[in-house]
Amino acid sequence: MEQLTTDILVIGAGLAGLLSALEAERSGLRVLLVGKFAIGLGTNTSLANGAFTVSNSLFSKEDHLRATLESGKGLNHVRLVKTLIGEGPEAIGRLRNYGAPILEKGMGYITDRPKSSSQLPGILLIKPLVERLKNSSIKLLPGLVVFDLVVEEGQVRGAFGFLKDGKPCLIQSGAVLLSTGGAGAIYHRNDNQKSILGDGYALCLRAGLSLFDLEFVQFYPFALGEPGLSTFLLYPPHSKEARLFDENGEDLLEKFNIRGDLNRAIVVQRDNLSIALYKATQRGDVFFDLRQVPEEKWEHYPLNFLKRSKFPFRERPFLISPAAHFFMGGVEIDEKAATSLPGLFAAGEVVWGIHGANRLGGNALTECAVFGLISGQSAAEYVRQREQEQGPSNLFSENLVKKWDRKVRAYLRKRRGTFDQPRDLLKDLRDLAWKYGSPVREEESLKEGLERLASIEKRIEKVYPATVRDLFKKRDLENVALLLKAILKGSLLRTESRGSFFRMDFPDQDDRNWLKNTHYRLEKGELQITHRHIKN
Ligand SMILES: Cc1cc2nc3c(=O)[nH]c(=O)nc-3n(C[C@H](O)[C@H](O)[C@H](O)COP(=O)(O)OP(=O)(O)OC[C@H]3O[C@@H](n4cnc5c(N)ncnc54)[C@H](O)[C@@H]3O)c2cc1C
Repeated sequence: MEQLTTDILVIGAGLAGLLSALEAERSGLRVLLVGKFAIGLGTNTSLANGAFTVSNSLFSKEDHLRATLESGKGLNHVRLVKTLIGEGPEAIGRLRNYGAPILEKGMGYITDRPKSSSQLPGILLIKPLVERLKNSSIKLLPGLVVFDLVVEEGQVRGAFGFLKDGKPCLIQSGAVLLSTGGAGAIYHRNDNQKSILGDGYALCLRAGLSLFDLEFVQFYPFALGEPGLSTFLLYPPHSKEARLFDENGEDLLEKFNIRGDLNRAIVVQRDNLSIALYKATQRGDVFFDLRQVPEEKWEHYPLNFLKRSKFPFRERPFLISPAAHFFMGGVEIDEKAATSLPGLFAAGEVVWGIHGANRLGGNALTECAVFGLISGQSAAEYVRQREQEQGPSNLFSENLVKKWDRKVRAYLRKRRGTFDQPRDLLKDLRDLAWKYGSPVREEESLKEGLERLASIEKRIEKVYPATVRDLFKKRDLENVALLLKAILKGSLLRTESRGSFFRMDFPDQDDRNWLKNTHYRLEKGELQITHRHIKN
């Protein structure tokens, strides 16, 4: 087994991970950054529209606070929100210093993209950061898939995973920074990267940490729904010629009472639109029609992006559907980005708290920037302090290495498998998520979803990987099934509707009984769910 040693290990190379690594490196400590793919790629950050909601000359901190809490519907962790808002402008300054092309606009900042460029803003945002990394002392290890956090005597000591070539790898580290993103790709319809399957949530649960509010999933109303094409997110053009209609020809923009700017409606009525569109797609096909959009608009983003596609977007109406977009739930941190496990820090979408029951558009990238920087500083302080108190010490005892050797053998043990292909099982899980954990939930179907999930779990248990690739796939299946169980069970218990969470059988927000966060924990392998009154 390969063994590596570092002071700070950063897991995840999206915006949160890149910034936390760069910040931690300023301390002079050794930093190792790992991601499933090439650094910066395969991340949701690379797909982002590049909008940051942050106070600016026209949008005050008070405005930002009000808008964030309004979206969160009483479930936000207010101290974290205040940190986000207080530190936002400085984080934007730091991104600019790193060379990110950021301009003030509207309720914050946007990533500047030359009008004719068809590159995604997220790519333009992270490119300069990746360049910085390459010219820094930070060690990069792309292609490493983390399977477990290594926890010993109540502290995190590093992580275990597999390298690109399938070799097991044990990393010892004074502190670990988790920035593994969300889990949108567990849904059949999603606009995330395919590999964003909630690994970070599963890592936390298995390491004994609590997660919160996993039942709150944000759906984006407009994603491509054409079979055989990836369900990428569609930014409607600023054009009144764009039409939305169902298979009976009914004008849905009129039906949903959207008369002005569709993009604005997506920001301010995201939940209602997603729910209405989900219901419409359950009744039949829903189409977007851009045929009447004037020629010159096809030269600019977002239509120039569609124009490059082989699909005839200009020639015929195409199917659309809502899609899973963002996870509000996750692991709890304090204002220093520390989790409840000493030595483990977290930033970005994997974290819970800021967004409450629904995220205000543009707050995710701000969260990555602010808490990416804070987590890098905090991890460095933690390692320095530990060194002062205990001197440089070997974090891994001989016994611990032996224990992990045994665990690796268990992971790689070959047994006779079943006929189920991991790929088919993942498809079944994603379909199940879409059917039962959709924007519209209700008791009967949630119960049915849990029963069907239990039978898929039994099939997953019987998948015995013959190769390391299969092992990765089996881990994905286990992670997705665990998260899905949490979402369905948590949804069943929350008998109200709030923010992004909608129960058909409990359509109203119930502040008397439900100003509570849902608390998820694994105890002896069983998922335990309780509720906690809002604490701020
Ligand atoms: C299409 C789209 C557009 C968006 N636009 C905006 C926007 O304009 N404004 C906004 O505020 N928000 C936006 N969002 C949301 C925002 O982009 C994401 O929440 C944010 O980028 C997440 O960043 P992150 O650093 O937490 O994770 P990510 O960028 O998703 O990166 C996760 C990293 O973790 C790694 N990883 C995961 N599991 C493992 C493992 N087991 N082992 C090793 N590495 C692992 C991955 O390889 C990856 O490197 C958008 C999201 C999408 C999908």
